[in-house]
Amino acid sequence: MDSKNKLFKIYNGQVVTPYSIISNGTIISRNGIIEVVAEGNLETPGANEIDAQGKYIAPGLIDLQINGFAGVDFSDQNLTIDDLRKTTKALWKVGVTTFLPTVITNDQKSLKKSFLILASALDDEEIGLSIPGFHLEGPYISPIQGYRGAHLEKYIRMPVWDEFAELQKAANNRIKLITLAPEVNGAIPFIRKCREKGVVVSLGHHNGSTEIIKQAADAGASMSTHLGNGCANMIDRHCNPLWPQLADDRITATIIADGFHLNREEVQCFYKMKGVENLILVSDALDLAGLPPGEYTRGERVVLLTSDVVKFPAENCLAGAATPITTCVSNIMKFTDCSLVNAIKMASSNPARSLGLHNIGEIKQGKRADLILFAITDGRIVIQKTIVAGKII
Ligand SMILES: [Zn+2]
Repeated sequence: MDSKNKLFKIYNGQVVTPYSIISNGTIISRNGIIEVVAEGNLETPGANEIDAQGKYIAPGLIDLQINGFAGVDFSDQNLTIDDLRKTTKALWKVGVTTFLPTVITNDQKSLKKSFLILASALDDEEIGLSIPGFHLEGPYISPIQGYRGAHLEKYIRMPVWDEFAELQKAANNRIKLITLAPEVNGAIPFIRKCREKGVVVSLGHHNGSTEIIKQAADAGASMSTHLGNGCANMIDRHCNPLWPQLADDRITATIIADGFHLNREEVQCFYKMKGVENLILVSDALDLAGLPPGEYTRGERVVLLTSDVVKFPAENCLAGAATPITTCVSNIMKFTDCSLVNAIKMASSNPARSLGLHNIGEIKQGKRADLILFAITDGRIVIQKTIVAGKII
C-alpha cells in the first residue's frame, strides 16, 4: 500500500493521546500526516481503513538506544542496507516505528565506517522514515571498571572535537545524541560545542561529581543515559553520580526497565523523582535480542544470552539487554502502577521531545501517522499492527 496522496483511517479503537484515552476513537491521516483525531466513526470514502475492534491505538514507540536487533549489530563493520531493512522490519513488528541505531566505543576508523554505512539508510525509501539519526555512546566515557561497563577500555579516550566532527561528517550530520562522561578532560567545552551544533548530550558511563554534573547541565547536557547502569556496584552513599542526576530537573533520564538492569524499587524511585515528563524508556537491546538463549561471540568477547538479558560470563556483569522497548512499556506499568497513557508517553512523546523530533511521538493533528495497534494480555503489550506514515507495514 502506498501512503502518498492516500487517506488512511483507523477506527473503533481506544486511542492513547498524551492526556487520556479516547474510547471508540477514529484517526484519519492524509499523505501520512494525521488530519483528524475524534470520537466515533467518521465516514471517510476512499480511505484505506482498519477496524481496531476496540483495541488500543498509540503512537509508534521511539527507541533512542538500540545497538542491534534480530541478529544484526549496528556496529558490524560488514553491515549492509539489507541488514538494516531486516532489523527495521523486525522492530516494526514489535511496535518500534522510530529508533536511533546506537554505535558504542570503538577505534576511530571503525566508528567512521559504521556511520558511513548507517548514513546510507537515511534516505532509503523503505526504512528512512524510521531512522532520524544515530546515537554515539562513547568513546568519551570513564575508563574506570564498573563505570565503563561493557565498553572496551582500549578504545576509550578524551573528547576531541575534530575527531567527533569527522564522525559527524561520515554520519551525514545525523549523530543526534552522544553519551559521554562529564568528568573526563575537555568534556565541558565539548558539551557546549555539541549543543551549539544541535547534538543532544547525555551523561553516561561516568562518575561525575555533583559539581561536574552541574557544570555539564549548565553547558547544555540534558539527559542521562540508562541511569543506574554504567555505574560501579560499590558507590559512596552520599557522594555518587546518581543523586545529582536525579535531583537536577534539567536532566531527563533514560532507563532500561527490562527487569534486570534495574530492580523494581529503582524504577519506582526514578519514576517518582524524575516524574512522567522527565523519564524515557530505552531498550539498549543488543543484536542478540530475539535470538535463542546460549553463548555467542560478540565482537572480541564471548557473551551469554539468557531468555531476557545478555551477560559477560567471566565478569558476571550485564553486557546489554535483549528485550525490546515494548516489554519495558509493559514493565513500567507493572513496576510503578502508572497508567498506559503515561507508560506510552515515556516511550514516544518524551523521546521525541528530547531529541527535537517534533513531527512524531503523539497522536495529534499535524503529526506523522506512526501508530501501533495492540492488545494488553496478562499485563503485556501484544502488537497487532504497525503503521508508519499512514502506511500499514
Ligand atoms: Zn551503556
